[in-house]
Amino acid sequence: MPCPPDILELGRSTWTLLHSMAAYYPDHPTLQQQHSMTGFILALGDFYPCQECAGHLRKELQRHPPDVSNAAALSDWACRLHNLVNVRLGKPEFDCSKVFQRWRDGPEDDDACPTGH
Ligand SMILES: Cc1cc2nc3c(=O)[nH]c(=O)nc-3n(C[C@H](O)[C@H](O)[C@H](O)COP(=O)(O)OP(=O)(O)OC[C@H]3O[C@@H](n4cnc5c(N)ncnc54)[C@H](O)[C@@H]3O)c2cc1C
Repeated sequence: MPCPPDILELGRSTWTLLHSMAAYYPDHPTLQQQHSMTGFILALGDFYPCQECAGHLRKELQRHPPDVSNAAALSDWACRLHNLVNVRLGKPEFDCSKVFQRWRDGPEDDDACPTGH
């Protein structure tokens, strides 16, 4: 039986899901899709299973509500949110102009990554 995820594994997995959902979010989302994505992100603040992280997240969501207008805006918002956490933890900031390359398109060398979805 594997161990439950610690704060690091939980964080990496959550960022992977959040950035990937943002990268594959529509360029022209319907109102229903916008509400649905906003609800998903707000629920993270309510249910993220690390109390300290969730507390910080709720404060940041109040200060910087998610921009669900399109994939680029949502990806940039998620990148800035992640950078706030990076800075708080003493980690380097990520260059937000590279979010699509990191989470959707991959490096220019086509063979560098296995084909996915
Ligand atoms: C909402 C949330 C709040 C958190 N709060 C805390 C906390 O209060 N205390 C705590 O100890 N941990 C917290 N974490 C966990 C923390 O952010 C990291 O996930 C964890 O420390 C593991 O870090 P890592 O160095 O493996 O890379 P991660 O920070 O998990 O990043 C994974 C990958 O994302 C990419 N990346 C990095 N920055 C960005 C960015 N800005 N935009 C796009 N891609 C990026 C990089 O390629 C990186 O390898 C939180 C996680 C989440 C999801």
